[in-house]
Amino acid sequence: RAKEQGRNTYQFYTEGMQEREVMRLELDKDLNHALANDEFVLYFQPQLDLNDSSINSVEALIRWQHPRRGLLPPVDFIPLAEESGRITDIGRWVVMAACRQLAKWQNGPYSNLRIAVNLSGRELDDESIVDHIQEALETNGVPADRLEVELTEEIFIQNIEHNLNQLTKLHKLGVHLAIDDFGVGYSSLGYLRDFPVDLLKIDRSFITDVTERHDDAVITRAVINLAHNLGIQVVAEGVETREQLTFLKNHRCDLIQGYLISRPIPAAELEKALSSGLLDVVDTPVGT
Ligand code: C2E
Ligand code: MG
Ligand code: MG
Ligand code: MG
Repeated sequence: RAKEQGRNTYQFYTEGMQEREVMRLELDKDLNHALANDEFVLYFQPQLDLNDSSINSVEALIRWQHPRRGLLPPVDFIPLAEESGRITDIGRWVVMAACRQLAKWQNGPYSNLRIAVNLSGRELDDESIVDHIQEALETNGVPADRLEVELTEEIFIQNIEHNLNQLTKLHKLGVHLAIDDFGVGYSSLGYLRDFPVDLLKIDRSFITDVTERHDDAVITRAVINLAHNLGIQVVAEGVETREQLTFLKNHRCDLIQGYLISRPIPAAELEKALSSGLLDVVDTPVGT
């Protein structure tokens, strides 16, 4: 009886694995056509400037409008694309799409907006990505300081020399550089000295309980102070409550991003939300 159960469990397990593997292979095949079929979309999540309650930047987050599976989040296909190397072409599309959007916004009520795009280490490995970014900016007539690139700490662990070279070139163009998910990587702090960093994004895992947990509060305050003393601005990720906003404002965090302000939304929805004041956050007094 126990033996039978064990066998069934085993079968169930392998069938589940096979199913996942089949799905993975299918998705990988579909990824082949996704670019040609124009199935990717950028969603935008606004960042609120705590100094003057304005929104001057948005993060571009990719989605895949899959013909059969619906709208897929990056976790469902970015890791796959990194394995196959297709991420290089996807990244180029993201940069181009972001620059096209910036060009559209350039001469209107949203001309103040900057767009931050995510680049993985794998994408930075590509020698020509910097040229591609420059080309995308020039083709669309967009000043480089409208674009921001978000990188995770992984780029400070491998290929350090190459990455430093790439980021120095990008920075010289005028592109802003942000460190994403700060505090959860395995890198040393030395890179903050060696790399041209404009922004640190404190990982959501520190923000979630920042008003309840002493340790998270201490870490968050320390990161803000460290960054400011190095002339780097700070974004808090994953802000969902007004209490978190108040804490971050009191401790001089520069920007916040999270569901409290808005989820990531399509460009048209963002424009509507901005123009109708939906994203305005009633000012919270400092010192409460
Ligand atoms: P990320 O760059 O750290 O982006 C933040 C993620 O947190 C986004 O998930 C966003 O929707 C989510 N988020 C924002 N505010 C909140 C909040 O208040 N609460 C919670 N629970 N979550 C929040 P998303 O869009 O699923 O993206 C996941 C990750 O996929 C991104 O993490 C980024 O690493 C990667 N990614 C997204 N777009 C691209 C891209 O174009 N290229 C590459 N290489 N990676 C991308
Ligand atoms: Mg990011
Ligand atoms: Mg992040
Ligand atoms: Mg992340």
